[in-house]
Amino acid sequence: MNDTLFGRIIRREIPATIVYEDDDILGFKDIAPQAPVHVLFVPKGAVIPTLDDATPEQAQLLGRLMLAAAEYARREGFAKDGYRVVMNCREHAGQTVFHVHLHLLAGAPLGHFGTP
Ligand code: 5GP
Repeated sequence: MNDTLFGRIIRREIPATIVYEDDDILGFKDIAPQAPVHVLFVPKGAVIPTLDDATPEQAQLLGRLMLAAAEYARREGFAKDGYRVVMNCREHAGQTVFHVHLHLLAGAPLGHFGTP
């Protein structure tokens, strides 16, 4: 249970800059930011390795990831300027940590995306 890199961050076994927490979700800064703001939001409970592994019962938890990112964006004052949320799934998306997580990118115009 939770025996992933992000599980160890959730259990505070390895350090991270934690910027958001509620009952279900932890948000912390990405160690290799791809934008001025780059925060990862992860579920604190049972590990879902990829979006493809998620079940209908986990729909609410996945929605909580989105709402946590939106709440953080409002709190930090960049919601009106805008931001991007991304969830990578497996090899072609470049997923490297198999503990489902949402990337929040913000802080500057992000340009177009989707080009390989
Ligand atoms: P993925 O590529 O799986 O969608 O995203 C994994 C993210 O985790 C990457 O953006 C990577 O920079 C970040 N990451 C990898 N190792 C660590 C770490 O030890 N601490 C933090 N805060 N982020 C990490």
